[in-house]
Amino acid sequence: MEKDQIIKKVSENRQQIINSMLKTLSIKSISPSSGGTGESNRAEYLEKLLISFDLKTQRYEYKDKTGCVRPNIISTLGFEKNKKRIWLVAHMDTVAPGEIKLWNRDPFEPYVLDGKIYARGSSDNGQDLIASIYTIKILSELTKTPKYGLGIALVADEEMGSEYGIQKLINDKLFNKDDLVIVPDAGDEKGLWIEVAEKGMLWLRFTIMGKQIHASVPNEGVNAYLHAMEFLMTLREDLQKKFNAQNKLFAPNYSTFEITKHEANVESINIIPGTEISYMDCRVLPEYKIADVLSFIKKNAESFCMRNKGVKINVEVVNKEEAAPPTDSNSEIVKLMSSAVESSLGAKPKIIGIGGGTCAAFFRKAKIDAVAWSIDNQMAHQINEYCYVESILKDAEVFLSLFL
Ligand SMILES: [Zn+2]
Repeated sequence: MEKDQIIKKVSENRQQIINSMLKTLSIKSISPSSGGTGESNRAEYLEKLLISFDLKTQRYEYKDKTGCVRPNIISTLGFEKNKKRIWLVAHMDTVAPGEIKLWNRDPFEPYVLDGKIYARGSSDNGQDLIASIYTIKILSELTKTPKYGLGIALVADEEMGSEYGIQKLINDKLFNKDDLVIVPDAGDEKGLWIEVAEKGMLWLRFTIMGKQIHASVPNEGVNAYLHAMEFLMTLREDLQKKFNAQNKLFAPNYSTFEITKHEANVESINIIPGTEISYMDCRVLPEYKIADVLSFIKKNAESFCMRNKGVKINVEVVNKEEAAPPTDSNSEIVKLMSSAVESSLGAKPKIIGIGGGTCAAFFRKAKIDAVAWSIDNQMAHQINEYCYVESILKDAEVFLSLFL
């Protein structure tokens, strides 16, 4: 099919796409472990939207540790005829908004301004939830015989490790070994990155314990906060020195060890805190094993405690994922995606690796070829998150060009 026909058809859906986006983003979809109530309300809306387009849907639900039901929605087209299948996998959950007062407006009252849609989850991953839904809608209107079968998977729990989302769907054998997978959840502003590899991931919770005391007599206590700062900063430097390999495929091309969340400690200025809880997010190049990073960190904590009397440090793993083997740069999905991008966007894409961890890594571990690609303005998890309306349309155009 002519490129112009696809562009015309997508642009006819423009207003409807914007409306669906605004509605989707107005429905909160935050994981229970981040203080939310899960994806159920958003999933219900999206499933109804697909059904309103005369598409069939299936729902896969899994109960998490908190008893919350985590829904995943599947819709397929042209799967019957024994054709090769391409999947689009987008996630419904979002991270929490962070400090609401830093946002220009309510993060859950989405709005359009200067061609951008603002709301928590607009860029990550609303843009491609909606692009995927409209890809299958438009494809069903354009042809009865697409070149490939198209499946879309709208999944839960991506932000917190995918235990009740894509991991379960893969374990439940929803995908075939020769399926081709696109995860539109990473990319650059121009849409010229095709991501084939991800770093390993390690999330840690450090509990640093000292002795609480009145701030006027610090000599009688052990300041957990002070020791936590010193310990974490030195640990970060030590990690950077020890695991210092570089790998050109990745951006950035080195392993990262970042101190991120920390929990509130004492309520008064005049109390020396006896406990401090801080977190670290590590993204590790495939050159290293996560277990080696972890044991280095534990040894580091032990020797810090030896040097600092009265300090105890407890290291807990919140999440860990070994780096998955990269998808071959010469694989069918990379070639297909490269030519779709080049013909739709007019420039040759670059094959890269990223910090991760998208759903693509779980497919690679299951030996299913997967790329992550999107026209991504890199606003994920930020205050005043937005995406361009144009990027939703362009993403859908690139996807449609694969099937027509
Ligand atoms: Zn995402």
